[in-house]
Amino acid sequence: MTAQAADLYKELVDILGEENISSEQADLIPYMKDSYTALMRKAIPFPDFVVMPGSTGEVQGIIRLANKYRIPVYPRSFGVNIAGSAVPYAGGLVLDLKRMNRILEINEDTMTAFIEPGVSWGQLRKEARKKRLDIIPIGGPYDTSPVGNFLLTNITPYSTRYPADRAVTLEAVLPNGEIIRTGSQATRTGAELNPYFRYAYGPDITGLFRGSLGNYGIITRLMIRLRPLAEVEKNVYYAFDSLEPAVEAMKSVERLEITRYSMLSNRHLSLRIAAHPDELRDAARRDAIMAGLPEYQLVVGLGGKSRQVELYEEMVAEEIIPRGGREAGFDDATRAVMDEMTEGASQKVLRMFAPYAGFAAVIGCVPAARAKDLNAAIRETVKKYGLKDALSGQPLEPELIVIPYDRCSTVYVEHEILYDPLDSEGVQLVNNCLRECYARLVMNYGAVHTMPNRSLLRVVLPSYAELLTGIKKMVDPNGIMMPGGPYTLEEQLKAEVQGG
Ligand SMILES: Cc1cc2nc3c(=O)[nH]c(=O)nc-3n(C[C@H](O)[C@H](O)[C@H](O)COP(=O)(O)OP(=O)(O)OC[C@H]3O[C@@H](n4cnc5c(N)ncnc54)[C@H](O)[C@@H]3O)c2cc1C
Repeated sequence: MTAQAADLYKELVDILGEENISSEQADLIPYMKDSYTALMRKAIPFPDFVVMPGSTGEVQGIIRLANKYRIPVYPRSFGVNIAGSAVPYAGGLVLDLKRMNRILEINEDTMTAFIEPGVSWGQLRKEARKKRLDIIPIGGPYDTSPVGNFLLTNITPYSTRYPADRAVTLEAVLPNGEIIRTGSQATRTGAELNPYFRYAYGPDITGLFRGSLGNYGIITRLMIRLRPLAEVEKNVYYAFDSLEPAVEAMKSVERLEITRYSMLSNRHLSLRIAAHPDELRDAARRDAIMAGLPEYQLVVGLGGKSRQVELYEEMVAEEIIPRGGREAGFDDATRAVMDEMTEGASQKVLRMFAPYAGFAAVIGCVPAARAKDLNAAIRETVKKYGLKDALSGQPLEPELIVIPYDRCSTVYVEHEILYDPLDSEGVQLVNNCLRECYARLVMNYGAVHTMPNRSLLRVVLPSYAELLTGIKKMVDPNGIMMPGGPYTLEEQLKAEVQGG
């Protein structure tokens, strides 16, 4: 340890105590990767320390020290971002926020929860349900955080009943060490009287943090929307032979404005959910399961009083049947796993990614009418690269997910490519394929991803990039937050954008 690092360590101990800091290599290794870093093929350096603060005050103390010592900071809650966005590209401090795992309030009146960044979806769900409330789930694992999700995307899955953006107001420690509160919490005094209203005092500063990763500061508290648990909650499943009518059906159902969940997927996704990985290796078994699955599947989640749900079911059928859909007849076991999928990715659902952790997603948001062409373009590109399914060795067919946004005014289209991260030739192919997929999505279909990464930001207007990097410069004058790597909003990016 250098003399400077030893000084920093002493000062960190004063804030956190020895038990919440480590520079042991064995402790640092888990922080240097996620399921995406294999694909990026970047050497990630060892961070100097991992630190685990327990309060906003401790986070502030660490950030002040980081400025004093000019040392990089990389925040991380559960590190399941599947994007390589929480790893320490320039070493420094990894700020592990899992100790900050308190649910400060669950408010039945405002249907909100006030949470710290180490609170997981599962933990929040368990507590909310005690008050007849629930999370508005994402498709990801329960053992990840709503705060991390908000900082990444915060837009999936959704339907007409709930706002896509679940955040209300927040508290953050800015990279310069100051504390900010947003929305109706922004007042100097009395903020605690009403922290429940987002659209206060001009521009939407809560929204500024959405998709910002750690660039604009560390979120230490988030007021998040919950939903009321209905008397009856039920999913109905429909099968389609082709994509276009399925998207049309989803659109017409969403415009009834009654759904609490809605998702369209192809049978390659259903297969991964319905079958155990061992069954996927066995060609005969795999084909038998596949034969029972519809080409495309639309699941519609309904909720309400029982007579309301009965009526909704009829209304949904009236939209779907004339468009070529038919009820999907799953056996009970398959249906139970499919139902779990609509509640977020449970253990069983996660087996679709097992036993290989290599998981790349091609994401693009477009008007619904473009979903079919987008799907064709991605399938064609995957075929061109000759990608193989890591379990069966067969030509890879990407899994497809289509989720409606705001009454299906646009859709979120995700294609998933699973691969074996230990197969280095295969990884290179996936990498090249992914790049071409994104280039085609953006150039040919105007599709947008939801996260700011370097290559995607090169396609935005210089004025847009200048605003993003300008805000970063203002709140982070010493450039301590997330320097280097593909997700930084530092000034250098502006030069890249201007240089074309
Ligand atoms: C199988 C699977 C399916 C998934 N499906 C979905 C899905 O349907 N929808 C979806 O949205 N996501 C999905 N995900 C992604 C992931 O589960 C979520 O986005 C997750 O909620 C991220 O939370 P996290 O705690 O792991 O965040 P992290 O990875 O820890 O952090 C996310 C980013 O925010 C930064 N960060 C973390 N905490 C803070 C903080 N307090 N302040 C400032 N910066 C911070 C990190 O540096 C990082 O860049 C899926 C993941 C898997 C593995």
